[in-house]
Amino acid sequence: MNPGMRLRRSAFLAAAALLAASLSLFLPLAIDESDAAQPAAPKYIFIFLVDGGGITHMEITRMFNRHVHNEGLVIADKIMKEGSVGLLATHAADSLVTDSSAAATALASGCKAKNGAVGVCEDGTIPKTVMEVAKEKGMRIGLVTNSTIYDATPAAFAGHVPDRKLYSPIIDQYLELEPDLLLGGGRDLFLPRSQPGSRRKDETDMIAAFRKRGYTYVPDKQGLSQAKGGKLLGLLSLRDMSFEIDRDKNLEPSVYDMTQAAIRILQEGNRRGFVVLIENENIDSAGHLTDVAALIHDYREFDRAVGLAYEFYKKQPKETLLLVTSDHESGGLAFSGKPSFDQLKKIHSIRISFSKAIQILGANPSSEAVDQLVAENFKGFVLKPELKEALIKRKPIGPAFMGNPTATALGAMVASQTQAYWISTYHTNQPVFVAALGVGAEKFRGYQDNTDFAKHLFALLGRKK
Ligand SMILES: [Zn+2]
Repeated sequence: MNPGMRLRRSAFLAAAALLAASLSLFLPLAIDESDAAQPAAPKYIFIFLVDGGGITHMEITRMFNRHVHNEGLVIADKIMKEGSVGLLATHAADSLVTDSSAAATALASGCKAKNGAVGVCEDGTIPKTVMEVAKEKGMRIGLVTNSTIYDATPAAFAGHVPDRKLYSPIIDQYLELEPDLLLGGGRDLFLPRSQPGSRRKDETDMIAAFRKRGYTYVPDKQGLSQAKGGKLLGLLSLRDMSFEIDRDKNLEPSVYDMTQAAIRILQEGNRRGFVVLIENENIDSAGHLTDVAALIHDYREFDRAVGLAYEFYKKQPKETLLLVTSDHESGGLAFSGKPSFDQLKKIHSIRISFSKAIQILGANPSSEAVDQLVAENFKGFVLKPELKEALIKRKPIGPAFMGNPTATALGAMVASQTQAYWISTYHTNQPVFVAALGVGAEKFRGYQDNTDFAKHLFALLGRKK
């Protein structure tokens, strides 16, 4: 190359640089405009799922917060007011009323499923879940629940089995997929058969198997609070985790505590973002037991967890999508008649869940034990003679009330004296709300099918970064 050429070349480069610099003053504007029509994919996606939570469950908790604690409700006051609200139809492929597995399959994969099927469509095809697609894109994925970690809802986001009771295969599929975070109850099916508390049929140590894949394992609240980055397996209870009203706050983390840990861990050293499912199963369990006090306490804690994600969104509003929805309503709960606001304070005076009452009274309770339990834990309530007799003689009350007679008798007592009534101990066909805030939130507006929820997530995940 002769010196003349070098000069000409550098002059050309300088001119090109000048041109690029002047163009760059205008180019970003043009790019911004096209991005407004097609915003980038959300980098951080929160899916909060209140299992069994209906609109009335939320509303009762909202009123409880206002009149008992002088507090708001993040879901209603922040997410719904600043974002979008929609309704999702919930029916299963083979029933007007869905169970958690068919509904979670619809929400996670976008196809209708038969009740009982986890991550398997009505026609038998195995769809991809939003978690699997996110993982393929290099995002981190997490499952958080206060149910057992292998229960139908988390399972349908990361596994595929024809029957929700195939727990061990679900755990094997988790090991194969390697979600970055697994937090919940259900240590019983990870322990080898010979260890106390195990419900496994073999001697396989699944905790050791996860450790071999690089997971850190934590068994309790303290371990969870100290856990750092990497892959984490937290089995925080032998079976289901406690109702919030009964929880030992020193030993067992709440959904709020788990959400705090999930955000910290999924964010660490993470450039491509994350998708996390955070489920509160206890709203459904309280519905099956007709236990309005336990329900409200758990809903409040769930809402505090949503509050953590809302704070996260406030810091990164252009990169975050925050979704709150449910799989179905449980129990057909509603206030009816002309209850005063003081009924909420009466519910607040209840000290334990019905689940705890069942434990305390056992299968063969004496009349004195029942009186003592009501006097100590349900102050101001009166267990009428016919309800007490049904409890002691083990007869569930009402045509649509099955399950534990202690729960149905206490449920009838609380309902008649607070006017918060239940129509059954099963799921109902109510549509559920979906509240959405952040990148892509507008897609979830209006009346849609629960399969649309996954379809929108697939579309958002398919967008360019
Ligand atoms: Zn249920």
